[in-house]
Amino acid sequence: MSNPAEIFGSKVFNDAIMQQRLPQKTYRQLLATIKNGKTLDPEVANIVANAMKDWAVENGATHFTHWFHPLNGASAEKHDSFIKPTGGGSIILEFSGSNLVRGEPDASSFPSGGLRATFEARGYTAWDPTSYAFIKDNVLFIPTAFCSFGGEALDRKTPLLRSMEALNKQAMRILRLFGNTDVDHVKTTAGPEQEYFLIDADMYDKREDLRFTGRTLFGAAPPKGQEMDDHYFGAIKTKVQEFMADLNNELWQLGILAKTEHNEVAPAQHELAPIFLTTNVATDHNDITMEIMKKVAQRHGLVCLLHEKPFAGVNGSGKHNNWSIKASNGQNLLEPGDTPYENAQFLLFLCATIKAVDDYQDLLRIAVSSAGNDHRLGASEAPPAIVSIFLGDELTEILEAIDSGTAYSSKEKTLMKIGVHTIPHFPRDNTDRNRTSPFAFTGNKFEFRMPGSSASIATPNVVLNTSVAESLKQFADELEKADDFESSLHDLIRRTIHEHKRIIFNGNGYDDSWVKEAERRGLCNYRSTPDAVPHLLDEKNVKLYADHGVLTKTELESRYEIGLETYAKTVNIEARTMLDMARKDILPAVSSYKQTLATTINEIHASGINADCSYETETLAEESELSAKLYEAVKILEEKARGASGATDSLEKACCYRDEVLPAMEDVRAYADRLELLTDKDYWPYPTYGDLLFGVK
Ligand code: ADP
Ligand code: MG
Repeated sequence: MSNPAEIFGSKVFNDAIMQQRLPQKTYRQLLATIKNGKTLDPEVANIVANAMKDWAVENGATHFTHWFHPLNGASAEKHDSFIKPTGGGSIILEFSGSNLVRGEPDASSFPSGGLRATFEARGYTAWDPTSYAFIKDNVLFIPTAFCSFGGEALDRKTPLLRSMEALNKQAMRILRLFGNTDVDHVKTTAGPEQEYFLIDADMYDKREDLRFTGRTLFGAAPPKGQEMDDHYFGAIKTKVQEFMADLNNELWQLGILAKTEHNEVAPAQHELAPIFLTTNVATDHNDITMEIMKKVAQRHGLVCLLHEKPFAGVNGSGKHNNWSIKASNGQNLLEPGDTPYENAQFLLFLCATIKAVDDYQDLLRIAVSSAGNDHRLGASEAPPAIVSIFLGDELTEILEAIDSGTAYSSKEKTLMKIGVHTIPHFPRDNTDRNRTSPFAFTGNKFEFRMPGSSASIATPNVVLNTSVAESLKQFADELEKADDFESSLHDLIRRTIHEHKRIIFNGNGYDDSWVKEAERRGLCNYRSTPDAVPHLLDEKNVKLYADHGVLTKTELESRYEIGLETYAKTVNIEARTMLDMARKDILPAVSSYKQTLATTINEIHASGINADCSYETETLAEESELSAKLYEAVKILEEKARGASGATDSLEKACCYRDEVLPAMEDVRAYADRLELLTDKDYWPYPTYGDLLFGVK
């Protein structure tokens, strides 16, 4: 294995390479663009592009691509070679500044949610210089944002960058109020822990459901599941270990800070956590990580499943989005400080987050909604669909003391007054015990646990950044006018705690009583994607995004359409895959097995031997009954799927898939799974759950 320090970032056009290869003046100009978003002079862009190309070619690249993140969930790339004819049958390799900063991919096949009707069909990509270019498979990748010609965002990155800017603007106002002059910008950070399953590639190939939908649509529970808790943090199997080593190697070369890896709760489930980074870079890195995971798995005869719920009855996969706010002097604004003054600032940022999560719980829920994640949220193994915050006892006690104007611990004699008290640091152990909370404070950051494993972290972070920017804006508006900063600050924090403490819940989020309690507190509980997505267009949400210049109403409408459309399409593909499997594989397999049983019974009877054939007769009877029911259920599903696909309004359609098609799918599955348990393994057309979950040696 290579030494990580030697290979790290070897495929990245990073700061060190830039310093090495760019004239000093160009380097400084580029740095100003990276740090402060200054527009790059075309001449400078040309020099940077040329240096990038030379470096890329020396490292084996023949092509370049603008890399962008359209709203279909995947990442997009279109490779162009560097070649340029010079006449006489020769070529040179060329990459210009304009090639670097702007591209014009044909946008017409990417989802626009109606934007294209209003605006020009074509889109363009614009270089995001804050995320380094890199080489993958001999192609130079340029991270970009993707917009329509009217400037509307057609991707996940544009609103993310806008939301980071919004938060920067408001956080800077607050820091100035605290007399902070050495900070020139504030950025949010993210560290996404990625869960995934690894299964045997040959078995995967035999499962049409996995190939077409990423999850199993059939499969009876195996005799052994995750009940023994023997997989979590268990010894990693050799084959998986080899995969992980290879994966780390690839990720490190791409400058991705892959750090922690371990087995997860479910059999065949694993996790990879990187060291956190600035949010847009962390988002790009997570996208690449998912892609490389799939690619490396293939090399090892494995398949990496990133679906939120590949196996019914077995834990699903999430992506914990650790999030914080970092000032340019390195200070983590969500970390309690050493002085009372720093702590007052910490409390203000903490309160801004609490208020944001309470005011925009619906947006957080929407940001993690998808057909896949619907199977996970609220399923007693993942966070509930209700958004709440876990703060831990100590911090909650401090906030309660502020709210009620009392001393915060038995040791304390004096009243809790901000700007006077030192708040203790919270050791991880103290704060990280609750695994059922969707949004937990873990000592110096928040961990948002609702995102699904396959989703990009861009959208949840857009919501966090923008909603916290809004809290900070309101705080700054109030505090900038205050005559007595300290007492106004105290009042503001106290009022915020009082008004938003309903969102704080330190108990067990899996408990049924929490659903009732949350309802009493007026928290929203959107159980499914079609329940959640329409609230994207609620007036308060449209206003939030517009006020901070993150998304216009038109852009939100397009995201509403795409959210519902994607949901309907996903369920439709699942229904059709299921029908295909039931009609072409399962029913015929059962029929063959029934024939074998019938033949056996007949032969025994005809032979005149007085043998017992109760197994054959009873199984035949049961198989006949179940297959008749399965066949009926298949016909009903066909009809429901046809009905749903006919709906024209996107919300009506999504609801139809949820209310009509999904239940019909459950019926089909229930009969098929019972048949699986009765049928001779040689006849059953698919690897079982036991094979899939325990198949990797
Ligand atoms: P656990 O599994 O107990 O939640 P891990 O250590 O596996 O903890 O993951 C924690 C994640 O949080 C890591 O990806 C880490 O880099 C990230 N993280 C730590 N500090 C911050 C921060 N200030 N901002 C964002 N992410 C952070
Ligand atoms: Mg975690």
